[in-house]
Amino acid sequence: MAKVKAIGLFSGGLDSILAFKVLQDQGVETVGVHFFTPFYSRPDIKELAKRFKIDLIVVPVLDEYIKDVLSSPVCGYGKNFNPCIDCHAFMIRKAGELMGKLGAKFVFTGEVLGERPFSQSSYGLRKVEELSGLKGYLLRPLSAKLLAETVPEKEGWVDRERLLDIRGRKRQRQIELAEYYEIDVDPSLQPAGGCLLTDPFMSKRIRAYIRRFHRQDLVIYSLIKTGRHFFVAKDTALVIGRNKFENDVIEKYGSRGVLLKPVGVAGPLGIIFGELIHDPAVHGLCARILASYCKACVAEGVFVSFSDGDALEVKKEDRKKFSRYAI
Ligand code: SF4
Repeated sequence: MAKVKAIGLFSGGLDSILAFKVLQDQGVETVGVHFFTPFYSRPDIKELAKRFKIDLIVVPVLDEYIKDVLSSPVCGYGKNFNPCIDCHAFMIRKAGELMGKLGAKFVFTGEVLGERPFSQSSYGLRKVEELSGLKGYLLRPLSAKLLAETVPEKEGWVDRERLLDIRGRKRQRQIELAEYYEIDVDPSLQPAGGCLLTDPFMSKRIRAYIRRFHRQDLVIYSLIKTGRHFFVAKDTALVIGRNKFENDVIEKYGSRGVLLKPVGVAGPLGIIFGELIHDPAVHGLCARILASYCKACVAEGVFVSFSDGDALEVKKEDRKKFSRYAI
């Protein structure tokens, strides 16, 4: 059998790793691709690929993902703000666009029939293939024997007999396969581990930004897991750290907005993003919100300085007063 090259979607989950191993076992030359967004990507994705000897290309796609997938998915959302069918289709389509450049003949994924009630049902897998525009050129090595024969199988680029027939949510077959390939399965390799779009709290916050933050200041999404978030004016948000780690993260992004900090009293760091970051009324509100998280006593004065040169003294108020601004 002639050696062919294929592009595999690499999420860092066990199923995607196994899909690579199954094809590599057949002598297929694989190249991994990961379409990076802060919603589902692991920061250690490159190290992970290296650990499993997978060549990986990481492509940032946040802007496109928000516009093409998250804003109005053709197949809608799952239980939270997770547009899983459109999300898979988008990634496969993007991988397909790289086929010519990389000299690859097909795309493969670690999808497993029946592992997810909707996106990996028979209907879901068919719909993903249809939306991706890669009909016939999309192989799912872990469930291939349960699915229609693809071009790579018909053409003999891969041996269908050596592909698998895994179905359902039980992970037993994957665990056995992992043992066979000497893969140390730790909890971080579980499917969909850490996708913020499936998290009830985080997905609500992301949805709020997508729907209400028209400026689409993408840096907001890099801070989506950090701190407390507040909408303080049209297209303008305040993020306040909850601990030293988060204050450090906020400081790192300081040049992308206006930083604010309490002076002479212990308290968190904040950052204002968006349209009205220099607006005096916004500064007033942000200073009051920040002061409500300072160690000072209620009604005590708190001096707040802003990185654009502004400075204000405000009274500390009960933070419950600001809950209507919280996201
Ligand atoms: S769980 Fe998240 S990353 Fe996975 S398909 Fe759904 S939306 Fe995409």
